[in-house]
Amino acid sequence: MKQKRISECIATARRPLLSYEFFPPKSDAGMNTLRQVAESLLPTKPDFVTVTYGAGGTTRSRTLEVCDLLMSMGFDPVMHHLTCVGATRTDLEATVDRLHAHGLRNIMALRGDPPHGDSRFRRPVNGLAHAVELVRLIKQRHPDICCGVAGYPEVHQEALSPESDLLYLKDKTEAGGAFVTTQLFYDNTAYFRFEKQCRDWGIRVPIIPGLLPPNSLGQLQRMAGLCRASLPTALIRALQEAGDDTARAEQVGLEWTMGQIEELLARGVPGVHLYILNRANFALAPALRKCFQR
Ligand SMILES: Cc1cc2nc3c(=O)[nH]c(=O)nc-3n(C[C@H](O)[C@H](O)[C@H](O)COP(=O)(O)OP(=O)(O)OC[C@H]3O[C@@H](n4cnc5c(N)ncnc54)[C@H](O)[C@@H]3O)c2cc1C
Repeated sequence: MKQKRISECIATARRPLLSYEFFPPKSDAGMNTLRQVAESLLPTKPDFVTVTYGAGGTTRSRTLEVCDLLMSMGFDPVMHHLTCVGATRTDLEATVDRLHAHGLRNIMALRGDPPHGDSRFRRPVNGLAHAVELVRLIKQRHPDICCGVAGYPEVHQEALSPESDLLYLKDKTEAGGAFVTTQLFYDNTAYFRFEKQCRDWGIRVPIIPGLLPPNSLGQLQRMAGLCRASLPTALIRALQEAGDDTARAEQVGLEWTMGQIEELLARGVPGVHLYILNRANFALAPALRKCFQR
């Protein structure tokens, strides 16, 4: 059955949007866990859910498998991420056709990261070099698919400059990217600065902040390193104080992210996208449900 488009959900929403991001597990056991987590999250009525696309190998086909599972459970819309990594234009056309045939009407159009060991991404033979080309490919083939695109409040690691990053983001939205989901950040000033710069550059589409509640100092530092997110001293200190107490560290992370969400919503963001890492603990927190009126 044909799914709703996220652009329409955003346009008609009467309350802030809440969305969750899943990743395709490598094993059948991981799929079972994902199913249980998804089931527990259904009552929180997310406005949409998304499923990431692996850099290569078996998890790629699992993305569609997870999308099918989530659709069969009643999630609508479900968004399939897609990257340009290791694919020719013909491969990508075939994938997009397949997703469309499955009823999917939302694709997060991404370039993908360079393979391990490479500092820069290289266009695959007969493939695409940038996400903007993927947005064009999708929109030309299936104009009824809603494309989301990625934005970087703290600037993409390969960007020539903050200005060029904004220019290319604008290109993605003008090619058909209907909304931007941001890379994770722990300091809201990064989002507010980015949002203002986007508006100054004429980017008009909704910009949904992406948040990952930290659950340990190690995870925080790893993620911040990968995504180049700046780390507020107060957050580091609170996680250091939690030490080996994992429950306390989770609580610290939850309180931090709740603080971010409250401020973001108070300043009128269209919604919040949660990188939940296939775990339900944070998404089920009563404070979160209250914030989103669920
Ligand atoms: C919300 C979100 C979801 C993600 N999901 C996934 C996922 O599921 N799977 C995965 O593998 N990765 C995922 N990523 C990571 C993403 O693939 C990487 O950040 C990747 O390095 C860049 O992807 P992009 O789509 O932003 O690329 P692009 O928009 O192509 O930008 C990449 C770099 O090239 C520059 N650039 C852009 N266009 C041009 C152009 N026309 N000419 C010259 N330079 C240009 C940009 O400034 C930037 O530095 C996600 C990221 C985000 C924020």
